[in-house]
Amino acid sequence: MAKYVYDFSEGNRDMKDLLGGKGANLAEMTNMGLPVPHGFTISTAACLTYLAEGGHPQGLMDELETHVQTLETSMGKRLGDPSDPLLVSVRSGAKFSMPGMMDTVLNLGLNEEALKGLAERSGGDLRFANDAYRRFIQMFGKIVMDVPGDAFEEALDHAKEAKGGGASDTDLDADDLRGVIGRFLEIYEEHTGSPFPTDPREQMRLAVEAVFKSWNGKRAIDYRRQNKISDDLGTAVNVQSMVFGNRGEDSGTGVAFTRDPSTGEKVPYGDYLANAQGEDVVAGIRNTLPLADLERIDPASYAGLRQVMDTLEGHYADMCDIEFTIEQGRLWILQTRVGKRTAFGEWVMAYDMLQEGLIDADTALVRVDANRLEELFKRRVDAEGATAIATGLNASPGAATGKVVFTADEAQAQGQGGERVILVRRETTPDDYHGMIASQGILTSAGGTNSHAAVVARGEGIPAVCGADAIKLNPAAKTFAAGGTTVREGDVITIDGFTGNVYVGELPLRESLLEKARQGDAPAREETLWKAFAALMDHADVRRALRVRANADTPDQSTNARERGAEGIGLCRTEHMFLGEERVLSVRQMIFAETAAEEQAAYDVLLPLQRDDFVGIFTAMSGLPVTVRLLDPPLHEFLPDQVELAVEVALGKERGEDMSEQERVLQKVNELHEMNPMLGLRGVRLGIVKPGLYAMQVRAIVEAAVRVKKDGGDPRVEIMIPLVATAPELQQMRAELEPVAREILEREGVELDHLEWGTMIELPRAAVTAREIARGADFFSFGTNDLTQTAFGFSRDDIGKFVGLYEERKLVPANPFVTVDRPGVGRLMQIAVDEGRAANPDLHLGICGEHGGDPASVVFCAELGLDYVSCSPFRVETARLAAGQAAVGAAETASRKQG
Ligand code: PEP
Ligand code: MG
Repeated sequence: MAKYVYDFSEGNRDMKDLLGGKGANLAEMTNMGLPVPHGFTISTAACLTYLAEGGHPQGLMDELETHVQTLETSMGKRLGDPSDPLLVSVRSGAKFSMPGMMDTVLNLGLNEEALKGLAERSGGDLRFANDAYRRFIQMFGKIVMDVPGDAFEEALDHAKEAKGGGASDTDLDADDLRGVIGRFLEIYEEHTGSPFPTDPREQMRLAVEAVFKSWNGKRAIDYRRQNKISDDLGTAVNVQSMVFGNRGEDSGTGVAFTRDPSTGEKVPYGDYLANAQGEDVVAGIRNTLPLADLERIDPASYAGLRQVMDTLEGHYADMCDIEFTIEQGRLWILQTRVGKRTAFGEWVMAYDMLQEGLIDADTALVRVDANRLEELFKRRVDAEGATAIATGLNASPGAATGKVVFTADEAQAQGQGGERVILVRRETTPDDYHGMIASQGILTSAGGTNSHAAVVARGEGIPAVCGADAIKLNPAAKTFAAGGTTVREGDVITIDGFTGNVYVGELPLRESLLEKARQGDAPAREETLWKAFAALMDHADVRRALRVRANADTPDQSTNARERGAEGIGLCRTEHMFLGEERVLSVRQMIFAETAAEEQAAYDVLLPLQRDDFVGIFTAMSGLPVTVRLLDPPLHEFLPDQVELAVEVALGKERGEDMSEQERVLQKVNELHEMNPMLGLRGVRLGIVKPGLYAMQVRAIVEAAVRVKKDGGDPRVEIMIPLVATAPELQQMRAELEPVAREILEREGVELDHLEWGTMIELPRAAVTAREIARGADFFSFGTNDLTQTAFGFSRDDIGKFVGLYEERKLVPANPFVTVDRPGVGRLMQIAVDEGRAANPDLHLGICGEHGGDPASVVFCAELGLDYVSCSPFRVETARLAAGQAAVGAAETASRKQG
C-alpha cells in the first residue's frame, strides 16, 4: 500500500518532490535536533492522487489517523480534549514556495469544548483562548471555505469601534472576543450554509482537502505560469502542533534571515512582533519591530535564535529564512528555507560566502540568476533637492516612476496598455498579484519587509516601498494624502526602493552602481557588488566553453559590446546602413533602375558609405570575428508606404499638380508589393534577383578589411548569406561573390587571415538539408527568430495578439520567441548541428536570433555544442554568465526556486 504520510523524523531536505519545500526542511531541522514542534507531512503524491481521482486516496484517512494518534502521544494531548486539547496548524507546502496558494490555518482542533481546556491550560487566560478561537474560525472560514475575509474584518472592526476610537485587537477583552466569536460563527453559517464544524477530525479533513484543491486555484495557476513552475508537482500538507506567540509580552513571532536579503550583507535581519501569531507579520496588520530589538526584549531567546541561524546557515551553506515563535520565553522554529533575495543581494552573498570558504567558486557561480543580472544595471532615483512626502521601508530595490493606480485590476489594465504605473495599496494579498507584476513599482502604507507586497516585489524584481504609514489612503476618492499633499489617481509619483522614499512627480533616475563601476568609476569599483560581479564573471569566463558575441551594426555598438566582454560580432545587420536620407535615395535609385548603368550608379554611391561603416566596425573589433550579413529584408521596406503614396498621388492629381515622379514611384511600389513579404523577395533571393547588390556589399566589406589591415588592424571577416533554403542557393552565391573578394585582395596585394563564407539556418528546409548546405559553408548561424517563425508558422510581428493566451493555456511551454522551443525549433537545430558537422567537421556554429541572450536558450546552445551565442550588447554579460553556469552543469540558477 502506498505511503502518503511522513512523520517529520522520517524525511530530509532532499525529499522536496514528495514532502514539498516546507515539509522537507521541517524534517531536516527535526533530524538536526532543532526545536521544531512535532508534526507530519502528507505527501504531494496524495495531492496528485486526490486531484486525479476527485477524492481522498485509498488508505489516506487511516494513515492520517495513525499519525494523528502518534502526534497525540508524543505531545501528551488529544485533539478536541476538553481538558487539554491538542491544536495544530495546517499549511500547504509545494516543492517551490508559492505565495499564490492556500496559506495556513492555525489553531485547528478548537471547538466550544476544547476552548475550555485551552483556557484552563493557559492559566485561566480566557482572553487568549477566545482570541485563538476567533482566529481559527476566521482563518478556517476564509481559507478553507472561501468566506469573504472582509466579512470577518468588518465584524472585528465593529467590535473595536464599540470599545472607543483607536482601539486595536489587543484592547478587546475576553467578553468582547466572545461576542466576536458568536458573530463569526453566524457569518460562517451565512456564507457556507452549514454550521461551523465542531469535530476536529472533520476540521482536519476539510482543511487537507482545501490545501489539495488550492493547487488548482486561480492564484496558484497564475503564480506558476509567471514563475514557470510545472503544474504537475502538487502540494504537500504539513500538520504541526501549535505553539503560541500570543501568550503575552514574553511571547511573540517573527521572521529572521541569516543575512540581509536586500543588500546581501552578513548581518542578521528580520522582523519581530511581540504577543502575536505568525500571520500578523505577513499580513502587515501591525507594524513590526526590527529583529535586533529582540536582543533587548528577550536576550535569551535572541541568543538561542542567533545560534539556530548560524547552525542553519552552516548546514545549508546558504542564506536561510526562518520563521520562529517564542512562547512564554521558549523558542520554537516553525519553518526554514533557503531565503529569497534581491538580484543585488544574491551577488553580494555568493561572493562573501565564497570569501568565507562556505562555498566553492562553482557553487557561487550558480547562486546568481542570469535572468536578473540586467536588473543590476538598473537606474536609481536622483532625489537631490526633492522632498519626500513619505518614507516607508525599502522593501525591494530599484527606482520607479509612474502614474498612481489604486487597484490591481487598474494596474493590470494600464500596465498592459504600456502605461507605467505605481500600484498604491494599504497592503497587498495574493489576489493583487496580477496587478503587481504589471506595475513599475509598489507602494503600501502598512506591512513590514516580509509582508506579501515586499516578498512578491523582491521575488519579481519590482521596486517597492512598504509600510509608509504617513500615507493616508482614501480608496473611495481614489486619492492618498501624505506630507500635506494630496495625490490623485493618474498623478505621477516616484518611489525609491533603495531608501523607502516617496516623491511627487517624476524624478530623474540615475545609473546603477554596477553600470558606473563598469564604466570605470573608482569608488564604485570598491563596492562588494562590483567585486562580486568581477569575480563571478571571471569564473564564468574560465568555465564556459561557449563564446559570446554581440549583434551590433555600428562602431559604437561594437565598442559597447566589446567593453561588456563580447568576443566578436555574430550578426552585423547591414540593412540599417541603407537607411538615412542620403542612402535611402540611392537605394531607391537601385530599386528603380531600368538599365545596368543606372543600377551601377546607385551602387557607386552606396559603396563608399558602406565601406566606411565596415572600416569603423572592423577597427572596433580588431582581432575578433565579425559576421556581416548581406542584405536581408524585402526591398519595399526602403520605399514609401503604398497607401499613403496612392492617396498623395490622387489628391495631387485632383488639384491638377504634376505627379509624374510620384506616380513612377507608386508604380514601383505596386510592382514590389507582396502579400507575404516575410516569405517573399528577401534574404538570398534578393542576392539572386539583384546580383549587383551583394557584389557591392562584398566589395565594401573586403575593401574595408584591406584598409583596416593596411592600417595595422586585424580584421576577421565572416560573410553571411541569409535565408538560404537550398544548397545550390549558397553555392551559386559563393561562386559569384568569392571572385569579387579575390580580385580585390589580389589587386591590393593583401591576404586576410580570416575570411569565411557561411549562411544562416533560419528555415526548416535549411535545417533538415544541413548536410548538403554544410558542404559549401564555413559556418552556420542559427537565425532562430525566423526559424521560430517558420517552424511554428507564427508571424513574429503579430504573435503579441495570442502568445499570452498560448502561454496561459500552456499551448507552448514559454514564448518561443524568447526561449528556444526545444522539441520543435530545438530539434531542427539539433538536426542541423549533427548533419552539418557530419558533412563538414570544421563547420563553425553559432546563434544570432534573440534567443542568444536568453539564459535558458544559452544553456540549450551549450548542450548543442555550438561555438558561440550572439546577442544584443546589453545582454552580453547575461549570456557570459549563463554560459558559465551551463558549463558547471546548472541549467537554471537555484536560488530563486529553492523552497
Ligand atoms: C533571425 O532570424 O533570427 C535573425 C537573426 O535575423 P533577423 O532577426 O534579422 O531576421
Ligand atoms: Mg532572420
